[in-house]
Amino acid sequence: VDAFDIVIIGGGAAGITVAAEMRRHRKSLSIGIVEPSDTHAYQPGWTLVGAGVFSLKQTQRPEETLIPKDVTWIRNRAEVFEPEQNAVILANGRRLTYGSLVVCPGLQLDWEKIDGLKEALGSNGVCSNYSAAYAEYTWQCIQSLRGGTALFTQPPMPIKCAGAPQKIMYLTAHHLRRQKRLDQVDVEFCLAGDVLFGVPFFVPPLQRTVDDYGIKLNYKHTLTAVDGPARKATFTMTGPDGQTSKIVRDFDMLHVTPPQSAPDFVKKSPLANEAGWLAVDPATLQHTRFPNVFGLGDAAGTTNAKTAAAVRLQAPVVVRNLLSRIEGAKLSAVYDGYGSCPLTTGYGKVVLAEFGYGGKVTPSFPLDPRVPRLSAWLLKQNFLPYMYWNWMLKGSEFDIKHRERSFAKAA
Ligand code: FAD
Repeated sequence: VDAFDIVIIGGGAAGITVAAEMRRHRKSLSIGIVEPSDTHAYQPGWTLVGAGVFSLKQTQRPEETLIPKDVTWIRNRAEVFEPEQNAVILANGRRLTYGSLVVCPGLQLDWEKIDGLKEALGSNGVCSNYSAAYAEYTWQCIQSLRGGTALFTQPPMPIKCAGAPQKIMYLTAHHLRRQKRLDQVDVEFCLAGDVLFGVPFFVPPLQRTVDDYGIKLNYKHTLTAVDGPARKATFTMTGPDGQTSKIVRDFDMLHVTPPQSAPDFVKKSPLANEAGWLAVDPATLQHTRFPNVFGLGDAAGTTNAKTAAAVRLQAPVVVRNLLSRIEGAKLSAVYDGYGSCPLTTGYGKVVLAEFGYGGKVTPSFPLDPRVPRLSAWLLKQNFLPYMYWNWMLKGSEFDIKHRERSFAKAA
């Protein structure tokens, strides 16, 4: 059968969470989940893979063990949306029809936008925590760094986990300090933007961290090309008067955060907004033109931080509103833009940045969130992965209730 009550596109953090919650609420609805990959990744763990704290394996599980019972896994790739016909066409030509559609295929890493990067990754000190294939190589690069220059790049926003490009930089600097090698390495942050972090409240503790490690900040630097064997990185630098110049830098280690955008099949679909992301209402997460379509996660055209933490609070909003719509009731669940970025300022130290739409600071604990803490590190290293695998992806009833409490606050 190719007709479902609900079709979910993407079986990542958002897709599995929505499927699991939906199953808890309504056993009778038929649900199909379209996901091409047989491995599911806890991507927030990749920062710690790059820092030698986790193995890559610890962050991955077989997709089949996560698909909730009685949910049909369609192991393929969605290619074309036909929302007027309530249909989705897959890469193998199969056509699925639906009563409601949930779109959450994540975002696209545009590696090829940087000349030579794809060929350079994985050797000559060129690494990236943004790829399962290269996160472990980051740790090799950090360990073998004896001197010279370590460059960390950050492309234009939006990207997923906007703090990740600098988290691994601080961990590298801390490791070098412990090895008494920090003064032999120039650590530099090359960012396309002109602020260290998008939420001003969290900039002072990050700036102190930068100063403490002696890191050099190069604002308005966008990576455009990498030559691995020659160990050269090319940047476009935008000057104060808007004119651009080309800068070529030598490096011993280069950690790249690739440019990111909405998946191409979303960009070219009737579901996209002008920037290519899913056009959804920021509060209800309902599509702005097709009321039986909802979107969440990194693909959504909302201004929250693109994080798994955001997905955690978006999923119950989508599930509640989708069910309300089926029942002909008013959509009452509201997402407040919550997202979280545990900024690892060193081993055993995390600034737990939590904030909603408009950069409104929304700490979960009655502590100054600007202070780097061991407790927040333990949360990141132990509790959050546990919560992800065992509560969020399983649609734990206790956890759903806890998360739904945020609706009332947001409304
Ligand atoms: P994903 O989890 O990426 O899942 C998307 C799924 O869609 C994938 O399984 C993919 O195979 C599938 N898919 C793609 N194309 C198609 C298609 N055509 N058809 C069907 N399926 C498709 N978040 C935090 O909360 N805290 C952190 O500390 C944190 N750190 C991070 C560090 C790094 C290095 C990275 C890379 C990410 C980090 N994140 C963090 C971000 C977090 O991982 C994402 O925000 C989250 O995974 C988004 O969930 P999603 O379901 O939208 O996308």
